[in-house]
Amino acid sequence: MSKRTIAVLGATGSIGTQTLDIVRRYPDRFEASVLVAHSSAAKLFELVREFRPKVAALSVEPEHIPEDVRFCQWIFGEDCSVKALEAAKPQDALCAIVGIAGLDAVWTALDVCERVLLANKEALVTGGTLVMEKAARLGKPMLPVDSEHSAIFQCLQAKQDNPVRRLHLTASGGALRTWTKEQMRTATVRDVLAHPTWNMGGKITVDCATMLNKGLEVIEAHYLFGMPAEKIKVTVHPQSIIHSMIEFEDGSVLAQMGNPDMRGPIGYAMAYPGRVSYDAKPLDLPALSQLTFAEPDTDRFPCLRMAYEALKAGGSMPVVLNGANEAAVAAFLREQIPFGAIAEIIEETLEKSSRSEITCIGDVYAADAQARAVAANLIGRHSC
Ligand code: NAD
Ligand code: MG
Repeated sequence: MSKRTIAVLGATGSIGTQTLDIVRRYPDRFEASVLVAHSSAAKLFELVREFRPKVAALSVEPEHIPEDVRFCQWIFGEDCSVKALEAAKPQDALCAIVGIAGLDAVWTALDVCERVLLANKEALVTGGTLVMEKAARLGKPMLPVDSEHSAIFQCLQAKQDNPVRRLHLTASGGALRTWTKEQMRTATVRDVLAHPTWNMGGKITVDCATMLNKGLEVIEAHYLFGMPAEKIKVTVHPQSIIHSMIEFEDGSVLAQMGNPDMRGPIGYAMAYPGRVSYDAKPLDLPALSQLTFAEPDTDRFPCLRMAYEALKAGGSMPVVLNGANEAAVAAFLREQIPFGAIAEIIEETLEKSSRSEITCIGDVYAADAQARAVAANLIGRHSC
């Protein structure tokens, strides 16, 4: 079997390091030819020593590059991921930069690579129509890495010609699932980062606690699978064993299950249509004893409702939702605003923004910048 070259964009993050764990196990199948990160230079140097890529890149240039990592081409600056892809032309791009900051890389990966392996859900939330149109036009597969979307994609392998009635996305409910609205208002960064089932980067863990993560995933599922909002149902499932489901017209439901471990969906995207083994814990259903399900509470988690509304409104509104959230979450992680203000800032930004059409990537960035300007003002007013 020939080796596939893969760019790991966001190599030092939660998804990036788990991707490299799969590469490490299969040196004869995968070659990490590009490694990109933001500012964690020391961590990237370590990865460069181990994986010996052709190109390495950081968006923040470090003061010093050690002698023993100078064998590869180094690229620095905000557009380093785009330049690194263009320089190395890997077969696959695992897009795991967090936020809209990863959109340009996804866009370029569609031109340069054979396949895009997508973890960076914000790229679809903001650029969904344009990205999916481009992927279809160029005939490039977009393989989902997000666990719910990977689950749906895996179930869809059994679809044949049958129409799908609904998609069921499962949600862990995040760190504050059982908290009252009052308690949630003042939840600390520490409370929120204690996710019960998944160990992830800071931004997505906050998104899980507001449940906007599930809202972003509804929008992601809409673009990936061409399903309208009303056919995408969210169910809270705290054990995170069923990763998501598809329902056919005859009421038959297919679920994809397993212990929560992101190396499952990452490995599936990397090896598709094959599978790779890693030290996955076998599923022990009797030990779990029960799987539970509940309707999401949109009174305590209004961000989920806002995401459906933004998707139905269309045009620039999902971009506004995302931009306001990125700004508010960053402010919460800096301990500038209370947890409860995140939802309020997103809601007010949506109210204050008028819908515009998105016809090119420039429109996405314009809507994002406007939303951030509105949100910045609100953050100032909500500051603790
Ligand atoms: P993380 O914060 O752990 O890692 C982010 C990575 O992106 C880091 O390597 C960072 O250096 C890099 N990065 C950030 N900004 C950059 C920039 N401007 N240019 C270049 N590199 C940049 O985040 P994560 O948890 O790995 O999540 C990454 C993406 O995957 C997010 O979009 C998230 O929603 C999605 N995702 C994550 C998980 C998970 O389990 N962590 C699951 C599903 C989806
Ligand atoms: Mg997910």
